[in-house]
Amino acid sequence: MVTIVGGGLAGTEAAWQVAAQGVAVTLYEMRPGVPTLVHKTDGLAELVCSNSFRGDKLDNAVGLLKEEMRRLGSLVMSAAEASRVPAGAALAVDRHQFSEHVTRALDTHPLITVRREEVPAVPASTERTPVIVATGPLTSESLSADIARLVGAEHLYFYDAISPIVLSDTIDRTRVFRQSRWGRSLTSAGGDEGLRGRGRRRRREPNAAAAAAGQVPGAACGVDDGQGDYLNCPLTRDEYQRFYEAVIGAESATVHDFDNERFFEGCLPIEVMAHRGVDTLRFGPMKPVGLIDPRTNREPYAVVQLRQDNIAGDHFSLVGFQTQLKFGEQSRVLRLIPGLEGAEFVRYGMVHRNTYVNSPTVLAETWQLRRQPTVFFAGQMSGVEGYVESAASGLVAGFNAGRLARGLTVSVPPRTTAIGALAYYASHADPAHYEPSNITFGIMEPLAQPPRGKADRKLAMSERGLEALATWMAMHGLERRGTSPGPAPAV
Ligand SMILES: Cc1cc2nc3c(=O)[nH]c(=O)nc-3n(C[C@H](O)[C@H](O)[C@H](O)COP(=O)(O)OP(=O)(O)OC[C@H]3O[C@@H](n4cnc5c(N)ncnc54)[C@H](O)[C@@H]3O)c2cc1C
Repeated sequence: MVTIVGGGLAGTEAAWQVAAQGVAVTLYEMRPGVPTLVHKTDGLAELVCSNSFRGDKLDNAVGLLKEEMRRLGSLVMSAAEASRVPAGAALAVDRHQFSEHVTRALDTHPLITVRREEVPAVPASTERTPVIVATGPLTSESLSADIARLVGAEHLYFYDAISPIVLSDTIDRTRVFRQSRWGRSLTSAGGDEGLRGRGRRRRREPNAAAAAAGQVPGAACGVDDGQGDYLNCPLTRDEYQRFYEAVIGAESATVHDFDNERFFEGCLPIEVMAHRGVDTLRFGPMKPVGLIDPRTNREPYAVVQLRQDNIAGDHFSLVGFQTQLKFGEQSRVLRLIPGLEGAEFVRYGMVHRNTYVNSPTVLAETWQLRRQPTVFFAGQMSGVEGYVESAASGLVAGFNAGRLARGLTVSVPPRTTAIGALAYYASHADPAHYEPSNITFGIMEPLAQPPRGKADRKLAMSERGLEALATWMAMHGLERRGTSPGPAPAV
């Protein structure tokens, strides 16, 4: 029997992987009895902010991670597939359908018992009855205190913020244009053009190195990675200047000292970015590169992108626009964006706490506590960042907790796979400067003989990753389960 605490992206995936081995699971979820500051429903695997699982092609690391998860029979991936909404070459979902799919799958599984209770302390565990803690960035206070006691290290706290959502029919369509950055869309994404971009050559941006390292401001909160069908609100220099000044002058709900407040660099609120310099937003979520306004036939000075947020298509989120301005200030400032003058906000941006353990200090590659291997950590709490990464760590933790319960040895895919690289990074990075990470090719084992072109290098990494995964799966007698929704990967 395996006990799992937390019914989010990581906990639900872990439960599915344990049960797939014929082992019984009890999954504890405290909602709806005990709410969190950001969850809105009582559904399992609720997506609290963006509805995007990011890129879905093998030319980026999160695309590879998803493909590996599909092949390992991921519940999160099959639910995402079943609730997919148009988002170009990215995988975005209707959040309600997604959560319903996961909830139904677990509620009806004969080996899984879902209990709606807060767990105040890490439950007792043995080799045959391991525990997985997957309580996420908003872990309840009593459990947080117990985890601090158990891991013997101080928790780290920082602030993230979530993006606002507007009602579709309140967007002024005469002022916006629908387009994918670099012309990448669902129809073009499958072929060579889709993988490499189309039309004009990609210009090198000042923050390209940071982007490659996954450090583009706002990237973790779903900034357009150049792969989607978006509504674009173009701004002239004057409009941008007016907007920038309004952001700088607006009142924040929590932050008063912009120089000394600590934030996660991958998910900066727009006002924090604006306080760093007049052009920071233009090189972050408001970057215009790769977008041509059909009315002027030119690249706008700056752009705000809106992404469809539900299947009905009546909700659009402001991409990468996480903010903690006061609600009244948000409605005033964001209505300065061309096309949003009359926008109705379904949800405002918000501030929240994020809790995670310093994983290189406390966790092994299998996501087990070094000091007490009958306890696993998974999800954001375990020091990864992002929906997909959280589910991926849940998948490996669930796989290994199930094996432990069956009296088998634990095992992790090699560092040449994305899922193995994530586990390696979380357990081996420098603990002195540890920050939760998204998956990037940069944390995978380098290629011995890399091809010369960047695009070819990425595809070679992915091909090698899928081959390595197949070998690892064969070693453990696992059958390939999922299928890729896009063009079939070569491997
Ligand atoms: C506000 C916010 C915005 C984010 N935006 C994005 C984004 O746009 N894109 C992205 O990729 N990632 C985002 N993240 C980061 C991260 O990917 C998500 O938080 C993700 O949901 C993490 O998955 P998880 O399973 O670790 O935690 P969660 O999905 O939060 O699941 C944890 C579950 O544990 C439950 N729980 C907590 N304490 C207890 C307890 N004591 N007993 C029982 N149950 C408990 C909670 O109710 C919750 O359902 C965001 C995080 C936050 C907080």
